Amino acid sequence: LCMADKFEMILSPEELRSKLPEWPYFIIDLQLWDKHTQKEKGKVCLQVNQSYGLLRDYFTGGELAVTWANEEFQEMFHGPLDRIIAYDGPTAEFLKEKEISEVVLLDPWADEVLSEKDFGVKAFVIGGIVDTGHDKKLTPKIGEELKNAGIRVRRRKIVLRGDVTGVPDRINRILGIILKMMVEGKPMDEAVYEFQ
Ligand code: SAM
Repeated sequence: LCMADKFEMILSPEELRSKLPEWPYFIIDLQLWDKHTQKEKGKVCLQVNQSYGLLRDYFTGGELAVTWANEEFQEMFHGPLDRIIAYDGPTAEFLKEKEISEVVLLDPWADEVLSEKDFGVKAFVIGGIVDTGHDKKLTPKIGEELKNAGIRVRRRKIVLRGDVTGVPDRINRILGIILKMMVEGKPMDEAVYEFQ
């Protein structure tokens, strides 16, 4: 059993968090949930579960927050609901509760590339969207919603040799790339290669 496992048996994710160093929240924003087919919703759930697994490798998993987590998501999600934060409301509300006023939104449509300078934020937001290919411009909508609610949003993209083409766009892979860069200090290109 690792340290986190031992603590987990007696503490809730929130209690566990309060005892450990301040790690950022990794938020998967499900506001576009209803735009998905049932099959796609299943894929979103799977990718959320895989994201939890990844976070557990580095932190505790309790840093994972899923916002707009409605009843259907909670029913369809086969992962440990009690080990993540499933927040049935807007991302901005969750952030306000945590007194977080600025986030990094991972957005393939952003102008700026994610860098070390962004690693000090208290929350990263990834779109809970499943659609292969970069043709539909969906993530910026999440940014707009957050800005309208008064949150400062740094939109940042992940690129491979300067281009978003070739970057895997699965939610869990995007999270994995950030963790490799942030925790292991790997250059972006190398982190992307490892998740291809
Ligand atoms: N067509 C969708 C769009 O317009 O955003 C693609 C969504 S992608 C399948 C799911 C999420 O992964 C996005 O919302 C974003 O947070 C993240 N993502 C995917 N590729 C990315 C990239 N190259 N840079 C930053 N974030 C990315």
